[in-house]
Order: sequence, then structure tokens, then C-alpha cells
Amino acid sequence: MIISLGLGDDQHDFGYDAVADVWIESLWSNLLKIFPLPEGIYPLSRNSAITPRWKVSLSTKADLLLVESYNSIYDLSRLPDEFYVTIKDNIRTTAPLHFQDVRLIKFKTNGERYGPGDVLCLRPKNLPIQVRKLQKVLNENNVNIKPDSVFDIAEVTSEIPIPRPLKYKVTFQQLCEEYFDLTAIPRRYTFSILAQLTDSDLEKEKCLEFTTAEGQEDLYSYCNRPRRNIVEVLRDFPHATKNLNGEMLFEILTPIKPRDFSIASSYAKYRNEIHILVAVVKYKTKLVTERLGLCSNYLADLKVDDKISVWLKRGSFSFPKDTNDTVIMVGPGTGLAPFRNYIQERVAYNTASAHNLILFFGCRGKNNDFHCSDELLALEKENKLRLICAFSRDQENKVYVQHKLLEEASTIWNALKDKKAYIFVAGNSKNMPQEVRNAFVSTCIEQGNLSKEEAEKLIREMERTNRYQTETWF
Ligand SMILES: Cc1cc2nc3c(=O)[nH]c(=O)nc-3n(C[C@H](O)[C@H](O)[C@H](O)COP(=O)(O)OP(=O)(O)OC[C@H]3O[C@@H](n4cnc5c(N)ncnc54)[C@H](O)[C@@H]3O)c2cc1C
Repeated sequence: MIISLGLGDDQHDFGYDAVADVWIESLWSNLLKIFPLPEGIYPLSRNSAITPRWKVSLSTKADLLLVESYNSIYDLSRLPDEFYVTIKDNIRTTAPLHFQDVRLIKFKTNGERYGPGDVLCLRPKNLPIQVRKLQKVLNENNVNIKPDSVFDIAEVTSEIPIPRPLKYKVTFQQLCEEYFDLTAIPRRYTFSILAQLTDSDLEKEKCLEFTTAEGQEDLYSYCNRPRRNIVEVLRDFPHATKNLNGEMLFEILTPIKPRDFSIASSYAKYRNEIHILVAVVKYKTKLVTERLGLCSNYLADLKVDDKISVWLKRGSFSFPKDTNDTVIMVGPGTGLAPFRNYIQERVAYNTASAHNLILFFGCRGKNNDFHCSDELLALEKENKLRLICAFSRDQENKVYVQHKLLEEASTIWNALKDKKAYIFVAGNSKNMPQEVRNAFVSTCIEQGNLSKEEAEKLIREMERTNRYQTETWF
């Protein structure tokens, strides 16, 4: 073995670089031991000149009509499993004055099939304000790329193929709207490129410092902690920005990644619809401008009849075939989404019963962010669902789903002990999944008289046999 597996964590304070950087250094040093370089040949320095990955020619008129006739740069290169949906409804499910905006978005489909646990994937576009900000910072620094400039991109080496949408001519405006992630937080690598572009000693020194191991704490304070995005960084480094050209844009700006959403409706109930439940990401840091999540804000802005391209993916949840098994679902916040799908499916097939379909839902307040409350309460009334809610801020002490699980310990243990229960946990990946797991372990200890080790073993065994499943996101 040359080197053991390295697993980067995107949620680490320093991003995946924290693991990747150290891992790559070790890889090179181990390779050099196995394959020493001939005498007089030395490894390239980390800051050696960057060769652009593609050749980019800019023109103003060629094929402009063809390019502009498409709704999206992905239209010409869609994958076979992509399909168009139109917005039927985009409904806020939280109270108008509640700080968190959550949307139940209903898409009209042509009957594309999906099942419980499935996930909808889509590519967001940048918000118009972000596009204007990038174009403004480039203009102010005399980078002469007009919104209608046409990019013709050619491969330099077959090792770095051109992504599908860039195989066709695209305008700069289209790239800004759909390809470049303008909310991306620059990483160490970005600063090594800026260091090469700048003709200011001060800027170069700062950028190079951010590329060193010692500079990572400063880079974290400058970029990651305040969530400063690439457009804001370009504004701070004008002497580098003014030297940007079509080719270097692809080195500095990363592509937008698709996002996943658990499907919140059942195909059995809504044959020509797909629903998703989206928490709109907005938060403040020490920077003056509010931070906006790329995809959730794009979705929140969609209007009725807007058309977008999507595709389906199997989620990680696999629900039991035997409807006599007890299904315990823990879904605070938008974690409700996959369970709304599953519950609707059971209702549609007449197999929903409060006896063995139990949902633990959690939110801040009954009147603030109890998503889809009318339909859940109606199902509870009809005895099709056992609904247990934790409204964390409706009383002095904060009550979360894990507290409600402990209150229901005896019911839960009765289901677990017969090995007839399935547990599903969905929602925010921060503390909730671990707290919920701890509550199940405590239940086994207290109700089943198991030792801590035995209880842990039981839950681990449930995880191994897919009877305890988790799907969480940030
Ligand atoms: C299988 C799966 C299913 C999912 N299902 C759903 C779903 O049903 N509903 C749903 O809403 N989402 C769901 N997600 C998450 C969804 O894919 C997106 O990640 C989410 O909508 C945020 O995307 P965004 O582009 O708006 O935010 P981004 O632009 O990607 O920004 C999000 C990032 O901002 C940072 N951030 C967010 N809040 C703060 C804060 N307060 N302080 C500091 N930093 C912060 C975090 O680093 C976070 O990763 C799911 C994800 C997966 C993988």
C-alpha cells in the first residue's frame, strides 16, 4: 500500500482541505520514496505557474442566436433521465413573522414514477443580484468580458475533459447564471491562483500566506468563518482581479453542484406531482450582507409555471415491505419530507394505522413552523398516524424530539424487543441524529434492563440490518 485511505470532510472548519492537504503531501512524499526522481530533478513547487485547464476563445456574435434560444445551458446536454417540471405551487409553511422561511414546493410532472424515500435532484441558478455583483467587480477592474461575450471552450488534454454544457458555445451571462458558483467559499487553491495573477506585492504576500499550513487559521477567519464568497474575495484583491481572463475564470470559479431534496409527496397519491419541503437558508455573519443559500433561495424565488429540469435518485431510506412492522419516524423540521411521502403512500394503500405508524415531529412552535400541520392532525384524528410533537419554544424548557422519545420509551421498547420495529431518522445533521440515537440507547437500557454495551450492540445491529436508518443534511 502506498498510503492509507484519506476521507475529507466538507463540514470541517477548513473544509476538505484539512484532510486532503496533509494526505496529498504524504502521497507525494511516499511516491518519491518508491520512485525517486533522477539527480538534478526536483518536484515542482506548490506555487508553480498554473496552466489553464481549457483553451477559451471569446467572440461577440458567433452563434449568439443559437445559444440564446435555449432556456438553460444544460438544455442541449441533458442526461436521459432528466425531465422538465413546472411549478404548481410555492407555499410558505411557516408563519409570516417567523424567522425561518420554509416552502412546500409542488411541481407538475408528466407522471414520472418515484417511491417512498426517493430524492429529487436539481441544478440551481445564481440569484440575479449575485450575477450583477460579479459583473460589477469585473467591470470595475477593467476585465473586458461583456455579458453577451460568447465562450468557445476547447480541450487541452483528454485528462481534463470539458463538462457537458461547456461543449456548446455559451454566453458569459449564461455562465454567470448557471455554471459558476458565485456563493462558493474560496479555498487555499484559489489563493495560489490569485497570488500568480496579482501584480501587487501586498496582495501576493497575503495570498501566499493563505496557501501555507501556518496561514490556515487566518484563511479560516477571513473566508470560512464569515462565509465570505468568491465575488467578495475578488473585490478585496483588485490587482489580481484585473488580470483575470476567460481561461482563468474557470480556475477561480467552481461549477454549481446539483442539490438533493427528499420527496415529500407520494406517487400513489399525486401521480402528476412531486412535492419538496425546503428550508430557505439565510443567516448573518460578521459581514454586513446576509448570507443566502444558493439552491434554497433559487427555489424560493420560483413562480407558478416556471419550468426547470430535474432528475430522480434513490434515497438511502428503504421502508419495510411488511406493513405489520412498527415504523418509528423521527423527522424534525424539513426532516418531515420523506415521512410525508411514506405516510401518504400507506394511506393511499389503506395500510396506515396509528397502531404501528409513529411520527415524532419537532419544530420551534405549534403556530410558527409546524409544517403540513392540517394534514398531519387530520391523519392523527382518523387514527391513521400516531403523531408526537416536540415544540421546543412553546414552554420554558426546550423540548426536542429526543425528549419525546424518552417519554414514549415503553411503547418504543415494546416494538424494539420483538424485532418488529424499524427506525428512520431524517433532518438536520448537526446534533439531532446523535441525540436521537442516545435516546434510543437509553430506552433500551431503562426499559429492557440492558447494560450500556448490550443496548449499543442492539442499536448497532439494527443499523447493520437496515432497521435503523438515517438520512440527514446540513
Ligand atoms: C439526501 C438529501 C436530502 C435532502 N433533503 C432536503 C429536504 O427535504 N429539505 C431541505 O431543505 N434540504 C434538504 N437537503 C439539503 C439540500 O440539498 C441543500 O443542501 C439545502 O437546501 C441547502 O442548500 P443551499 O444551496 O440553499 O445552501 P448552500 O449555498 O449550499 O449553503 C449551505 C451551507 O451554508 C452553511 N450554513 C448554513 N446555515 C448556516 C449558518 N446558520 N451559519 C453558518 N453557516 C451556515 C453551511 O456550510 C451549509 O452547508 C437534502 C440533502 C440531501 C443530501
